[in-house]
Amino acid sequence: MRSIKRASRRLPASLRAVPTSVPGSGARFLSTTTPTLSTFTINGSTNTLVTPISSVLIANRGEIALRVARTAASMGIRTTTLYTDIDAASQHAKCTPYALSLGAPSAYLDGPQIVELAKQHGIQALHPGYGFLSENPAFAKACEEAGIVFVGPPAKAMTDMGDKARSKEIMNASGVPCVPGYHGSEQSVEQLKAKAADIKYPVLLKSVKGGGGKGMRIVRTADEFEAQLKSARAEARASFGEGGEVMLVEKYIVRPRHVEVQIFADRHGNCVALGERDCSVQRRHQKILEESPAPLLDDVTRKDLWDKARKAALAVDYVGAGTVEFILDKDTNEFYFMEMNTRLQVEHPVSEMVTGTDLVEWQFRVAAGEKLPLTQDEIEARILERGAAIEARIYAENPEKGFFPDSGTLVHLSKPQTNEDVRIDAGFVEGDTVSEAYDGMIAKLIVRGKDRETAIRKLELALREYEVDGLSTNIEFLKRLCNSQAFIEGDVETGFIDKWKTDLFEAKPTSNDVFAQAALGLLGTQTQNAPAAHGQALGFGEASTQNSRKFAFRVQDDASAEEGKIVGVEVAQLNNKLFNVSVRKEGDDKPQVFENVVSESTSTTAPTSSAKKTKLTTYFPLARVDTTLVQDPADNEKLTVFQLGHKTQLRLVSPVWFDKALGLKEVAASVVAPMPCKILRNEVEEGQSVEKGAPLVVIESMKMETVIRSPQSGVIKKLAHKEGDICKAGTVLVMFEETEDSA
Ligand code: ADP
Ligand code: ADP
Ligand code: MG
Repeated sequence: MRSIKRASRRLPASLRAVPTSVPGSGARFLSTTTPTLSTFTINGSTNTLVTPISSVLIANRGEIALRVARTAASMGIRTTTLYTDIDAASQHAKCTPYALSLGAPSAYLDGPQIVELAKQHGIQALHPGYGFLSENPAFAKACEEAGIVFVGPPAKAMTDMGDKARSKEIMNASGVPCVPGYHGSEQSVEQLKAKAADIKYPVLLKSVKGGGGKGMRIVRTADEFEAQLKSARAEARASFGEGGEVMLVEKYIVRPRHVEVQIFADRHGNCVALGERDCSVQRRHQKILEESPAPLLDDVTRKDLWDKARKAALAVDYVGAGTVEFILDKDTNEFYFMEMNTRLQVEHPVSEMVTGTDLVEWQFRVAAGEKLPLTQDEIEARILERGAAIEARIYAENPEKGFFPDSGTLVHLSKPQTNEDVRIDAGFVEGDTVSEAYDGMIAKLIVRGKDRETAIRKLELALREYEVDGLSTNIEFLKRLCNSQAFIEGDVETGFIDKWKTDLFEAKPTSNDVFAQAALGLLGTQTQNAPAAHGQALGFGEASTQNSRKFAFRVQDDASAEEGKIVGVEVAQLNNKLFNVSVRKEGDDKPQVFENVVSESTSTTAPTSSAKKTKLTTYFPLARVDTTLVQDPADNEKLTVFQLGHKTQLRLVSPVWFDKALGLKEVAASVVAPMPCKILRNEVEEGQSVEKGAPLVVIESMKMETVIRSPQSGVIKKLAHKEGDICKAGTVLVMFEETEDSA
């Protein structure tokens, strides 16, 4: 191994065999970049020797560590991963034969320890992934000084771009447009406030050290300036430490889009743009959907963005993968430099999909001293033929509760089928725990289609097959985004979620077949195993001679319009696989009955999470429905139903609850006809208050008049019938407004 390494080190680049895993790249490897780029050439030394990377330490965790390891393995690079105590059994730590322990949860940030480990184990290169130490110039420098190849940009470029004020000065000097604003060192409250007045409100305060949306505040008017500055400074100080309180004041763009350009530069002065990504759909200033190409963007602006991004990179002698982020003002179509992320980015697979490249492979090759595998023209040709790609970030969080992060065990995890155009980058498998100590991203789902509409449809279909249980995720919300007309039309902006929140968060009805399936699934587990607590054999009418059971569920699902309701289900088994199922929701007049449904189920206990899972296939009168029913291992009555691409959460309750719910409602909310009758007259009006015992309706039955009297004091909500109507027994005649004590 070592001798091969030394031998190849002596070979000039032009004589080395070129890895060909980037399709079509081998033959083109020696071609120079496009003429337009030669103007950007920086100290283009032509006789740099290529030193292939043969071993790497990945200083990161989760999906990015796994993703880097995958490419490293395909390139024959010996890979070592790192883990903290709580990550010892995590997928990234288990994916390589070599894994080293770091200790405390925060140790992924312990640069000196990581460099020391790399030295001790004779590891040649270090890949920082994203987050953690990836944008830390001191760490990059420490690697260099220890003789370790840092797979990333030079420390100097990181320093230049790491400070939001300084990077803007460099950009202004090199003709890259920046958001109008103040980036100076005079930081008194009065000075900043005067600058804000010059810029004109609304303005945005940003920490020079910002990241992940922290330390940013919108200031809409002068009188809230001081308070917002104080809170931005406090947050930035807490997140970024010393120097975090230094603020920029920028014009706040009211309808901005986030459009960024993936760039790549080598040590030979070449720099290419691998297309742009629109990442406008964000929550808490953090991206959740990213796509390429950016929708509704004219070609002139697109090419201008690419050029400015390359200019930005070359202005700081950039090497490696980087992203230049721009903010695009929808009202003027002007764009401005926002920041440069000097690392691989979470959403890089989107660019890989539309350019047919492996950017981690490019990183290793560029770090080895090779030239870029493709020219700008070659990349553009690929983009033209490869269509569109979109990434959805799957997070452990609750969108209905303000996207509040969640953590816990992945009790059930079933992924869509992947292929060339459907890719999943994930750091977890079923049974793993998503810890609150780290970022809550569970996976990234990336799909490609021949055009944007196709890509969105394919993403939605794949999300429908993504089943995650045990903690809250944003999967249902992502499906809603895919179905949003405004999103499909490409009308995106960073305030998208807020702008469309009424549509995006509208509670959806849960159809009765969900409850039917839950009951059939439970019946399956009961006949297969011992009877569960609340399924009770019950005689009802004709069914008393058959095997019949009653179940009741409470809907416990923030996204359901039935949230909180009790639903009763009665299942009568007619023979081995044949059932009648009757479902009645609290508040429904009568049940919905599914007759002669053929249903088959199998239950298993998941080996890693010990959750009980039941797979059912049921032929309803009009359709086949496949369902997965999951019972939480820690709480058997907590149920999740995955069906027809939707997740619904229920709680199994005693059937007595349902009877109670029904009974209470009938007494409290309405008066029904005691027998078949004809309405002679209503004695009250809608909206009228009545006392208990007051006459409500006069009916005629069997030639006799009967006065129906009010069973309670209350307000009449609705009179269901008018004079002359014929009613069956049990028909609602009068409804009352619900009051607190009747609810
Ligand atoms: P940005 O939001 O700054 O433009 P990205 O979208 O590429 O950049 O996200 C990078 C962010 O991911 C980091 O700022 C950090 O909050 C988070 N992060 C850091 N390390 C990890 C990790 N190992 N796994 C998942 N997320 C991480
Ligand atoms: P971070 O380092 O936290 O990623 P950025 O400077 O990249 O910070 O900004 C993050 C997000 O904040 C952007 O994606 C955009 O949504 C919003 N943003 C940034 N600057 C502005 C601005 N001048 N006007 C309006 N929105 C902005
Ligand atoms: Mg950013």
